[in-house]
Amino acid sequence: NEDQFKKVVSHAKEYGYIFASSEIYDGLSAVYDYAQNGVELKKNIREYWWRSMVYMHQNIVGIDSAILMHPTTWKASGHVDAFNDPLIDNKDSKKRYRADVLIEDYAEKLNQKAQKEIEKAKKRFGDSFNEEEFVTTNPRVVRYVTEQRTVLERMARSLENEDLADIKALIEELGIADPDTGSKNWTEVRQFNLMFGTKLGASAESAMDLYLRPETAQGIFVNFLNVQKSGRMKIPFGIAQIGKAFRNEIVARQFIFRMREFEQMEMQFFVRPGEELKYYEYWKETRLKWHLSLGMGEENYRFHDHEKMAHYANAATDIEFDFPFGFKELEGIHSRTDFDLKAHEKFSGKKLQFFDHELNESYVPYVVETSIGLDRMFLAVLSNSLQDETLEDGSVRTVLKLPAILAPIKAAVLPLIKRNGLPEIAHKIIEDLQWDYNVTYDEKDAVGRRYRRQDAVGTPFCITVDHQTIEDNTVTIRYRDSMEQERIKIEDISEKMKETISY
Ligand code: ATP
Repeated sequence: NEDQFKKVVSHAKEYGYIFASSEIYDGLSAVYDYAQNGVELKKNIREYWWRSMVYMHQNIVGIDSAILMHPTTWKASGHVDAFNDPLIDNKDSKKRYRADVLIEDYAEKLNQKAQKEIEKAKKRFGDSFNEEEFVTTNPRVVRYVTEQRTVLERMARSLENEDLADIKALIEELGIADPDTGSKNWTEVRQFNLMFGTKLGASAESAMDLYLRPETAQGIFVNFLNVQKSGRMKIPFGIAQIGKAFRNEIVARQFIFRMREFEQMEMQFFVRPGEELKYYEYWKETRLKWHLSLGMGEENYRFHDHEKMAHYANAATDIEFDFPFGFKELEGIHSRTDFDLKAHEKFSGKKLQFFDHELNESYVPYVVETSIGLDRMFLAVLSNSLQDETLEDGSVRTVLKLPAILAPIKAAVLPLIKRNGLPEIAHKIIEDLQWDYNVTYDEKDAVGRRYRRQDAVGTPFCITVDHQTIEDNTVTIRYRDSMEQERIKIEDISEKMKETISY
């Protein structure tokens, strides 16, 4: 809900996760900076993805291609002609929106209404409740679900046919109003290309118009043969990449969900023609498992299979996540056929084929792609982890229950007081741990307050050095989620942390 979303945004700032870009100049819309804790969380998500894709699959390798690419790349990929969003302005508020997003939000509200009815009925009927039957027979739910489907199908059809007038008509028929002002006074819908342009070269005559890449995938496609040959890769194999992408998005207060400069984690898997749907299923399942392995709640994920697809795909699904503003796309999995490689063959005049020794023939491979936004994943993790917990004594603690493996700071080492040699012991413990973990030292305020501060940052362990430490070399280890404390030997700290924080 709206409140939870606001909390996430302000918590992100207060605890050093995310700042608005160039904040002293009032920020730059839909551009953000990662702060001292944010950069660590982001790095840890990146690492978690990279290990699972590249290290855990012997037939996947990584690359890091340039942001600037030859401009013909974007002609071949279709981005110059077709990377557009339908844009609509409200004549009264002068605000600009993505017409498709307005319609999707409307459809999501219908879905939420249907869910509410289901929840109500669940409570009423208890154990005897049959959800499948209810969904197909309850008139209200049937109406919500049918309308939702009709609306989304009509929108998909109009988008594919570039029937912008019909999109406008749909917005009017549904009575969609400006979310801020409630006004229904809309302009026509028009197409808007999302690529940022820039120039290469010094003199005006020799300058070349370039684009900042709007996706990392094309850097993989154009390097397909280089990697295959230099790595002696055999089909099926994959190329993974993590890097910045840029889109001149039309955005409305979505924080890091939709940014103009963001990071993607993409993997293109090259397969024999005809085998793509088998691998599409494999990657659907494998990617969902990756998400579930973080333990953020199975009920927060769902697939949204596309019925209507872009012209280059023969199967596509989104993994959607339940963000504070509802279920939205987190990752896309697409069976892209040989569209991209064929297009690059055509525009470059170079063959991009693989000789398959088993089949004794050459072909342009088919591609199955997995594509996830790193920043969007960051938002999923952050918003899922932030919780207000009421304790036994009635007080409320704010705790960021990040998956421990992703937490920016793994442990805080706290001397109970600033004297009697306790700080020295704490520093010594840090010196030993810092080879393996990002750890921090804190001696300010009462220890209870220091615990709360670490809870809010999401630090899974606090290690407290007290007077008994001097006598028997033991410390207290406190666990963030249970708040339980245990007395352990200094030499066992690292092993104890490893139980929770290892791949
Ligand atoms: P949307 O429909 O939300 O605009 P898309 O379908 O255009 O997304 P893709 O082109 O498939 O997205 O990009 C793959 C992934 O990259 C998305 O699933 C999302 O996680 C991420 N992504 C795309 N655009 C943005 C953005 N502007 N800001 C942050 N992440 C993004």
